[in-house]
Amino acid sequence: MSPTYDVIVLGLGGMGSAAAHHLAARGARVLGLEKFGPAHNRGSSHGGSRITRQSYFEDPAYVPLLLRAYELYERLERDTGCEVATLCGGVMVGRPDSRTVAGSLLSARRWDLPHEMLDAREVRRRFPTLTPAEDEVALYEARAGLVRPENTVAAHLRLADRDGAELRFEEPVTRWEALPGGGVRVRTARNTYSAGQLVICPGAWAPRLLTDLGVPFTIERQVMYWFQPSGGTHAFAPERHPIYIWEDARAVQIYGFPAIDGPDGGAKVAFFRKGTVCTPETIERTVHDREVAAMAGQVADRLPDLPGRFLTAATCMYSNTPDEHFVIARHPAHPGSVTVACGFSGHGFKFVPVVGEILADLALTGETPHPIELFDPGRPRLRPGFTAAPA
Ligand SMILES: Cc1cc2nc3c(=O)[nH]c(=O)nc-3n(C[C@H](O)[C@H](O)[C@H](O)COP(=O)(O)OP(=O)(O)OC[C@H]3O[C@@H](n4cnc5c(N)ncnc54)[C@H](O)[C@@H]3O)c2cc1C
Repeated sequence: MSPTYDVIVLGLGGMGSAAAHHLAARGARVLGLEKFGPAHNRGSSHGGSRITRQSYFEDPAYVPLLLRAYELYERLERDTGCEVATLCGGVMVGRPDSRTVAGSLLSARRWDLPHEMLDAREVRRRFPTLTPAEDEVALYEARAGLVRPENTVAAHLRLADRDGAELRFEEPVTRWEALPGGGVRVRTARNTYSAGQLVICPGAWAPRLLTDLGVPFTIERQVMYWFQPSGGTHAFAPERHPIYIWEDARAVQIYGFPAIDGPDGGAKVAFFRKGTVCTPETIERTVHDREVAAMAGQVADRLPDLPGRFLTAATCMYSNTPDEHFVIARHPAHPGSVTVACGFSGHGFKFVPVVGEILADLALTGETPHPIELFDPGRPRLRPGFTAAPA
């Protein structure tokens, strides 16, 4: 008997919703299964904003994917009329030899991306909300900005639904298996489904759903904070205030956004990394006063007007790999029928639409023209006991 679906997508968060859209748009019969509701706030794709940028300090190999992601975000906005991206400009701030500055400059030069280098005085002149120290500089990128996670997920789900995908919410997968003769079987409390292909986009549930992948994930609790600037939000509006990633002398990075949600919404700021290890079941959702005080203290020297009044905070999870690069591939143990996208290590959202495109390529053809070598689950840096050679 032939399976009912061409492809089952497990998890309809950031990556899974994009995969469901790209698969359905190519005419595949798609079933999407999601543990919670549409665009929910229990995983990694909520909180109103995510930074996007092209001069990528993590590795220049990401740049071609970013260029494609930018095109696809534009197309998504056109096709749905939903606001998904705001390119308000961005600064990567730190000492010239910091990873944030030097790494961004390396990518900008390698890919000939438009950018400007600003000294501390120039940063203060152009962006009066920011007060870098004399020994700090910034790479300014006009095409950096923010993307909207909930709107992006909702827009992808809407297009998938329009193109005939069957999307089932509040229906967690309890078990999946690749069948010896080809195809997959997926169970939930309600039903058992079969399909030719399975695409697994599990976010922070990767350790549980991908036990035989051999990748040592670390799930981290991260906190996002919203403050009402002391002079109000005018100076922090997206026309005046850029997104920023700011690395201090101890290599601690904070990042933040303009005030995008009106006069009462405040501006969001957070630590990049520096989270505590958790699981989706054990994550502490309460944010404590001492955490708010620590964040306000970090911000006070650099954006003195920002920590005027604390508004609110929310938790979210990172799914880290040891080298902080993604995992996107055919599952090595089931290469004929299972594709995985996981380990986005706190920097995946800006790639969501292009990851959807790659997953559709892999599930339907077994290959992709996009460069994804860096995301191979078999890479040496993911093997237990691997230690990087001294630089
Ligand atoms: C605080 C914070 C700030 C971030 N900032 C940025 C940023 O500025 N820029 C950037 O690019 N990225 C950023 N990221 C990272 C980015 O948001 C993530 O990489 C991305 O959202 C991951 O998407 P995902 O699809 O892997 O996970 P999710 O969106 O969490 O999706 C996984 C889905 O799988 C579902 N699921 C799990 N188990 C099952 C099951 N058994 N059955 C059915 N469904 C299941 C879950 O419910 C969930 O919906 C940030 C992340 C956080 C937490």
